[in-house]
Amino acid sequence: MCGHVCQPFRTEDLKFMGDDVFAVQIPNGLKGDPLVYVPQRPLGEAFCFDLGSLEALAHKDLMRITHVFVSHTHMDHFIGFDRLLRVHLPHARLMKMWGPAPFIERVQAKLRAYTWNLIKPDQIRFLVHELKEDGSVTEALLTNTNNFAIQAFPSKSSIHKLCEWADGSSMRAALLDHKGIPSVAYKYLVPGRMRVLVEKMKDFGLEPGEWVGQLQARLRAHHQDDTLVIEGRSFSVRDLASKVIEWEAQRSFAYVTDASFDERNVKALFEAFGSSEQLISETSFLDKDFARALDKAHLTSRHAALLGRLLRVKKLHTFHFSAIYGEESEVLLQESQDIFQELQKADDSSFQAALQAEFLRIKS
Ligand SMILES: [Zn+2]
Ligand SMILES: [Zn+2]
Repeated sequence: MCGHVCQPFRTEDLKFMGDDVFAVQIPNGLKGDPLVYVPQRPLGEAFCFDLGSLEALAHKDLMRITHVFVSHTHMDHFIGFDRLLRVHLPHARLMKMWGPAPFIERVQAKLRAYTWNLIKPDQIRFLVHELKEDGSVTEALLTNTNNFAIQAFPSKSSIHKLCEWADGSSMRAALLDHKGIPSVAYKYLVPGRMRVLVEKMKDFGLEPGEWVGQLQARLRAHHQDDTLVIEGRSFSVRDLASKVIEWEAQRSFAYVTDASFDERNVKALFEAFGSSEQLISETSFLDKDFARALDKAHLTSRHAALLGRLLRVKKLHTFHFSAIYGEESEVLLQESQDIFQELQKADDSSFQAALQAEFLRIKS
């Protein structure tokens, strides 16, 4: 793989959601193998969507990965598995993975391809989750101790909540069709948080203490009219909170790749995700090449823009550009943004008309 060297895009384009919550990276650029790397700063961990080539990621970044969400196992989305395995091998850590059925067998086949007589029992442990068509999830712990035998059992998780991290963030999924095979779309959600402004406490002559937790508990219970007694003084919960608490809104982004644009997929995506703050969407082809997209069960720039409007996202990010465009990739990038901006201005009925027009165009 050529990595960054032959990408026409600047580094800024690769690390494109630069804030504390979403410092999302696309290490292979917009034309390389699909790989989206998401550091979770409060946890010191990271997860990734898909496992295209991992060569562009530094060793220390790979070491942070604890969860992997795979859309499907076409080669360009799964070839990085071996590097992930190799980097984590000496550390005997549990790796959690998700993907569409028969994902457990796919991971087993990867693991069984090597000879493992020199490692310790339980040195390799993959907790693999497989998403079924009916939305249920099956999981199996694959370990070298028993030559990665599959003992699968129903998972407590479901497509509506695949997992939840210690900071309250969570992942859900939608199953889409990709020319007869399932491709999983994911939505990552970080709940709204209360940020305590320590510097503002001085205005009330207060120091941080147990009262902060009490104040947060009253706010969570919607008891703004209560009075809180702190060090013998009474404070209105509403007044105090308005000065020392800042609300950070809920954040979310969806990841959609390798799916055909059809009524079934659009419905499945909307039902599973409703809305999202941002969308990272595959855009393999230009609008004029929609017949090509149809043939390969991929999305065009118009499709990505329509999906962005469907989920009412504020920002649309596109990637997984087809190699046929070469230097023309800038056009692809721009086209999806132009169509998306137009659709953002459209009211609901105009948007529905645009959606139906595209369904008709595809069928004809
Ligand atoms: Zn692909
Ligand atoms: Zn594919």
